[in-house]
Amino acid sequence: MSGGVIAIDGPSASGKSSTARAVAETLGFAHLDSGSLYRGVTLVALREGARRGLRGAAAVADLSPEVILRSAEDRGLMLQSDGAGFAAYLEGEPAEDALRSADVTANVSAVAAIPVVREWVNTRLRAMVRAGQDVVVDGRDIGTVVFPDADLKIFLTASPEARAGRRISQRGIAVVPEHLDAETQALAARDHADSTREVAPLRAAPDAVHLDTTRMDFSEQVRFIVDRARPIFFPE
Ligand code: C5P
Repeated sequence: MSGGVIAIDGPSASGKSSTARAVAETLGFAHLDSGSLYRGVTLVALREGARRGLRGAAAVADLSPEVILRSAEDRGLMLQSDGAGFAAYLEGEPAEDALRSADVTANVSAVAAIPVVREWVNTRLRAMVRAGQDVVVDGRDIGTVVFPDADLKIFLTASPEARAGRRISQRGIAVVPEHLDAETQALAARDHADSTREVAPLRAAPDAVHLDTTRMDFSEQVRFIVDRARPIFFPE
């Protein structure tokens, strides 16, 4: 028995994870943040690299994917239920804060472009659905590659400036023009890397519903998705 799947894809900082979490809570589904697994593998690469005297990008470039993934297994990288949902755990501890560090964010696109890393992540996401779990999964290739038969696919976008502004606000600092410019450029670089890689690039599935949230508030975007999901999963 397979679980139901709502796939939410889109560029960095388009609000996928917070939206997916709220949609999952509303429908009683589990939220799976695929990016947190890519971030987790990146954190593992950085820690394993540091243990061997390699720093930052050098750790990602010099360690083989097999070494990185073996270290991820040894360090117990997994999505684990914490009661309210699924969160990434590493070395037996919730890893959420470490996953959002600047070092992980700067290196994650390079790690996510490695085909065996993508297979490792996809295997874990698919296993949860095969076990019968109903899920809302967010990422870049969920509706195109990981779950091409998802029951509902959403492609979430917002203007680069809106996304950069939201990312800065999340850090609790004022949105001033020079921060906005720097963040818009950093997001554009990550979008470019994610959209142009050879394996599973960021792309909307042909059957995805597009949702531009530039001028929407959070509750509106959650309602938009929930309203489309209800007739599919809970027909009258
Ligand atoms: O969503 P988040 O910004 O946390 O994702 C971090 C990175 O993980 C992305 O920039 C992308 O390189 C990678 N990713 C991916 N495919 C996914 C989810 C995330 O390549 N399904």
